[in-house]
Amino acid sequence: MDKDLPSWYHPSKYHRSLGNDMVQCLVCERRCILQSGRIGVCWNHMNIGGGLYNIAYGFLSALESRPIEIKPLFHYWPNSTALTFSGWGCNFRCPWCQNYLLSQSRPSIRYSLEKTPMELVFEALRRGDNGLCASFNEPTIHAEYIIDVARIAKEKGLYFTLVTNGYMTLGVLREMVDVGIDGYSIDIKGCPDSCRRFLGIDPYYVFRNARYIIDLGGHVEMVYLIVTNANDYDECIDWVIDNHIHYLGEDIPLHINKYYPAYRYNEPPTSMRKLLEVYNRARKAGIRYVYIGNVLDERYQDTYCPRCGKLLVKRRGYRVVYWAIDDNSRCPRCGFKIPIKGHYIVK
Ligand code: SF4
Repeated sequence: MDKDLPSWYHPSKYHRSLGNDMVQCLVCERRCILQSGRIGVCWNHMNIGGGLYNIAYGFLSALESRPIEIKPLFHYWPNSTALTFSGWGCNFRCPWCQNYLLSQSRPSIRYSLEKTPMELVFEALRRGDNGLCASFNEPTIHAEYIIDVARIAKEKGLYFTLVTNGYMTLGVLREMVDVGIDGYSIDIKGCPDSCRRFLGIDPYYVFRNARYIIDLGGHVEMVYLIVTNANDYDECIDWVIDNHIHYLGEDIPLHINKYYPAYRYNEPPTSMRKLLEVYNRARKAGIRYVYIGNVLDERYQDTYCPRCGKLLVKRRGYRVVYWAIDDNSRCPRCGFKIPIKGHYIVK
């Protein structure tokens, strides 16, 4: 570490040198090529003299204890709370971003809370949270920090989850899972056509990464925000559902979420009719745990046994108000195994 650099500039090993002080960042699949002095798309990684630095290490834009169900993660440590934190910036530019004040802003020392990884973990313990969650902005772009936090969290017996667009490279993802980040709420932004048009990204990497996490023993739930006139047409819906089944299988939950106008996008909010259409198509395709989120009607947040139809979990206001799955994660009526990572937390 260069002693002339600010303390929040943290060297990043996730890069390769291209010669002449040029580097390629290998944190996410944007794989930015940076000349010395240039910052990547995410505003968090900078080439300084031919080395890559995370220039906002430990800068937090928000910090709050939140229910795990709000992520949404419905099959991971149900009814627990996670100390949820975020940094600044993003590697995507979704025109409808619901968190744009944090995610479409450059890191700011003036408006940041600074926490070392140790301080953050002790804050979670002090509040009585069961784990930590990196959310609100894209966690991948401060991977160096969250990996350090997760290492300590694991030692202290806390879980660690991400709410992510799932666009990290396999090298970073492998390290995340290895240090104990084992819960992932992953946004699938749409099909290749809509993702190219609105975001300039390839959603194939998202399914590749979700599959990789599952193969390494991690837990995944997918979130599909249905955005009016962006990713809500038949071919796009079919592509998402077909690839969910193909890459992830029928046991991985799919959350179908309602979009509201925000940031630079003003199309009308998703209709309940459209959400139900996608819900029914996903169920028909064989996905066993399909939920509808961001709506007032909370019936579609409940879990039913796929075999006998018994109501197993009722969720209201992002809390579990009824729990009938037995201690072996089975339906008490027919014995069907329900995929749950961790166990139900009585609060
Ligand atoms: S983390 Fe940032 S700098 Fe690195 S490849 Fe992704 S967008 Fe580019």
